[in-house]
Amino acid sequence: MAVVLVAVLACVGLRIEHDAGYYECPNCGERYVPTMKAVVMATHMGTSRKLTCPYCGKKGYHKKVLTKNKE
Ligand SMILES: [Zn+2]
Repeated sequence: MAVVLVAVLACVGLRIEHDAGYYECPNCGERYVPTMKAVVMATHMGTSRKLTCPYCGKKGYHKKVLTKNKE
């Protein structure tokens, strides 16, 4: 029962994280929202995730950002 609860909370947390912002590509600087599947599968390191950029196609640690526009 506790395991199920933890799994549900982890899913909710991931969904909130997924919906709350964007990831910035370290190679080309584009900001985008990755797919839910990509976020769940990605290696996690602090606020960065190892993702493949849909713009330049390179893998890297994408930093989490809250806005789409650069200030
Ligand atoms: Zn890129």
